[in-house]
Amino acid sequence: MNTPTPEADLLLLLAVVLPPRALDVLGPVVDERFVNTTYGDIGPLALRRNPGGRGVWVQPYSGLPSRTDPRSTLLAARKLGVQRVLNWDTAIALNPLLSRGNVAIVTDYIDFVRHQPNTFFESEGITGIDQSPPVCPHMSQALAQMLPMAPGVVYVGVDGPRRETAAEARMFRQWGGDLMGYNLVPEIALAGELELCYAGVTTVTDGSADRFSYPSQGEMRVGLSLVLEALPRFVELLAAPATCACAERLSAPRKGGLLANDWWMQE
Ligand SMILES: [Zn+2]
Repeated sequence: MNTPTPEADLLLLLAVVLPPRALDVLGPVVDERFVNTTYGDIGPLALRRNPGGRGVWVQPYSGLPSRTDPRSTLLAARKLGVQRVLNWDTAIALNPLLSRGNVAIVTDYIDFVRHQPNTFFESEGITGIDQSPPVCPHMSQALAQMLPMAPGVVYVGVDGPRRETAAEARMFRQWGGDLMGYNLVPEIALAGELELCYAGVTTVTDGSADRFSYPSQGEMRVGLSLVLEALPRFVELLAAPATCACAERLSAPRKGGLLANDWWMQE
């Protein structure tokens, strides 16, 4: 593998379908890589960079059961030298105040994923983590600054591709879920084990099965444009020194092992 590019410290996992050339807002593709990991190969990841700006690695992402092993995705981020991962996901609205085309920022999540690996424990020598890793507050604040109309939401991670039943939708809502989707979990927990910052922004594609559906009226195009237009400044905002606990983890003393996730034992 080539030397990591330190000036690109963000990996964008893209689970939305965008028009051709839409990502040109992040600059032209200046590099492409395949990364091989213990859990499979991933790529090509495209490095985009605007002239004089910061680079962003971009990986199209799918929550289908046949997707790349999520552990491979996060290990690739680590190998590329990025510290931050942003997942731009599509989601189903459980909260009746959210509808198609709305943009939301993930502030917390419920893990209802049953068929994906959700830990590096043992296989990578991790001996334990103190608590479930949260979304990165630094990245989430930057998202909120760029997308002031976007509420913070609780995301329910589920296995695809089967859609929820109406009864399941009501259950998730009673649990406190606002959205459900296929791409954020278990990636967020895996990122925590690797001491990476992780945040999620979602575009609502539909209401849940317990709600009336209605024909599309171009709401998705509007919702996708909001995030797309915010991305270049979001990337630049991340240039500011991180103030989050994830960054403290990243700068904390490490001892031994590839992942050395036992720093808290020294405190
Ligand atoms: Zn962070």
